[in-house]
Amino acid sequence: MWIGGVAVDSDERFEIRSPATEELVATVAKGNAGHADDAVAAARASFESGVWREKTPAERAEVLDRVAARIDARNEELAKLQSKENGAPVRIARWVHVGLPAQELRYFAELARTHQWVRPAPALAGMGTGGMVRHEPVGVVAAIVPWNVPLQLAVNKIGPALAAGNSVVIKPDEHAPLMVLELAAELDRAGLPAGVFNVVTGDGEEVGVRLAEHPDVRKIAFTGSTAVGREIMSRASETVKRVTLELGGKGPNIVLDDIAEADLNRVVDGCLFAFLTFSGQGCESGTRLLLPAALHDDFVERMIARIADLRIGLPDSDDTDLGPVFSRAQRDRILGYVESGRAEGATLACGGSSPEGFDKGYWVEPTIFTDVTNDMCIAREEIFGPVVAVIKYDTVDEAVAIANDTIYGLSAGVWSSNTDRAVSVAERIDAGMVWINDFHVLDSRYPFGGMKQSGLGRELGPDALDEYTETKQVTYALGRREETSPYGLLFGGDL
Ligand code: NAD
Repeated sequence: MWIGGVAVDSDERFEIRSPATEELVATVAKGNAGHADDAVAAARASFESGVWREKTPAERAEVLDRVAARIDARNEELAKLQSKENGAPVRIARWVHVGLPAQELRYFAELARTHQWVRPAPALAGMGTGGMVRHEPVGVVAAIVPWNVPLQLAVNKIGPALAAGNSVVIKPDEHAPLMVLELAAELDRAGLPAGVFNVVTGDGEEVGVRLAEHPDVRKIAFTGSTAVGREIMSRASETVKRVTLELGGKGPNIVLDDIAEADLNRVVDGCLFAFLTFSGQGCESGTRLLLPAALHDDFVERMIARIADLRIGLPDSDDTDLGPVFSRAQRDRILGYVESGRAEGATLACGGSSPEGFDKGYWVEPTIFTDVTNDMCIAREEIFGPVVAVIKYDTVDEAVAIANDTIYGLSAGVWSSNTDRAVSVAERIDAGMVWINDFHVLDSRYPFGGMKQSGLGRELGPDALDEYTETKQVTYALGRREETSPYGLLFGGDL
C-alpha cells in the first residue's frame, strides 16, 4: 500500500493470478479498516498543511503532465502488466488501459491551467457590494474502482481531484490493484507531496465500507456495480458526503431499417465491437441488440459468420481478438445467464460455453441469443461477459420504448445510413452517452456517465472539475456603510 508517502505492508496478503493461465502474478498487502483510517488521516493532514492545494494550478498541472509522460513512456510494459493482471488483450490494453489514462492526465492538466478558479462577481445594484466566486477543493476525496479498467477509472477521479487541489485515498479492486500502485509510484516520482495520494489495497466490505463511512472523507467517487453504488450512497448520506457514481449498464444498440447494403458489413462489425470488446466486460457495452424484423435473419447470420473469424487466445499475443474473462466467478456467472436465457425460451444462436483448447483460465465463447423479449433476465440484468441479447422490433417507436425500458441509462448506439434520422432517435434515448454509427467512444473531452440507476454525475469533459470543487461566494461591502448598508431592514430604516 502507499500511505503518507511511504510503502506500507500488512500481516495478510492476497494473490493476483492471471485469468488466462492462473499463474501467480503478484502478492499484495491486504489492508484493513485501520489502514483506511491511516490513509484518510494522512490525506487530511496533507490537505490542511496546504502542500498541494496552495500550489498554483500551473504547478499542479506540471505534476500531472509529468506522470502522463511517464505512463506514455512505459506504455508497452504497463499494457503487459495489465494484461497479466486482468486478462485484457494487450492490443486493447495499450490503448484503453494505458494510453487513455495518459491522455486524460494531460487533459486535466490543461483544465487546471485554463479553469477560472476565481471569478469576479458583479456588484449588487443599490447595495454597493462586490465580491468573487471561488472554486475550492473539497478536501479528502475517496475513490473506489473495479478491476476491468483500473488505471483509467482511477485517473477519471484522481485527475480532476488533484487538478483541483484535493488529497486522495483510493481503494482499487482487491483482485486488480497493480496499475493503481504503479500510478502511486509515478505520482511520487513526479513530485507530488507525501500524503496527497494514498492507496489502500483491501476488500470492499472492509476498506471500501470504511471509506464510505469515514467522517473526514468529504467526497466519494465510485465505479462499480449498481448494488454496491446504492450501498455507498446510503453510507455516504450519514455524513452528507458528495457522491459521484459510475455504475452498471444494459446498453441498447439500435440498428435502423435504412442501412444501405454497402454499409451492412461495417454495421455488423460495429455491433460485434459493441458487445465483445474486452469480452464484454465494459459497463458501456451494447448488450441488447435491437434489429428491425426485415433485417434480422440476414444480420444475425452475418454476425455468426464474422465471429468465426475472431481469434480467441492468450491476452499477451498481438494476434488475440478475445481473451479470457476476469475470474472463475465471472465465468460461472456468465454461463449461469446462458442457462437462464435457454430456460426462459431464448434461442442460443451461437456460443454459450467455454471454448475448447484451454486447460487453464476462464473462457467464454462469443454468445448470441435471438428470440429475446425485453422481460427476460438476459435482457434486464447486466451479464458483464461476451453475450448479446437480440430483440426484434417492427417500428422505431417500439425500438425506443424497448431501449428505455430498463433501470439503466448509461450508453446506447444507433446505426443508420441517415444521420438526421439517427440523431432524432438518439434524442429519445434515456442514456448519458448515445453513439451514432460507432460504439465505446472514449475521449477525455466528452462527459462519461449514466442516467437512472447507471449513476450520478459525470466524469471527464469540461465540467469534471465541478465534481471535485466546492463553490464559495466571498462578498464585501463597498463604499461608506451609511450609503450601502441594508441593515435598515433590521433597524426599522434608521440607519
Ligand atoms: P463491484 O461493485 O463488486 O466492485 C467495485 C469496487 O467496489 C471494488 O473495488 C470493490 O472492492 C468495491 N466494493 C465492493 N463492495 C463494497 C462495499 N460494500 N462498499 C464499498 N466498496 C465496495 O463491481 P465489480 O463487479 O467488481 O465491477 C463490475 C461492475 O462495475 C459492473 O457492474 C460494471 O458495469 C461496473 N462498471 C461501471 C463503469 C462505469 O463507468 N459506469 C465502469 C466500469 C465498471
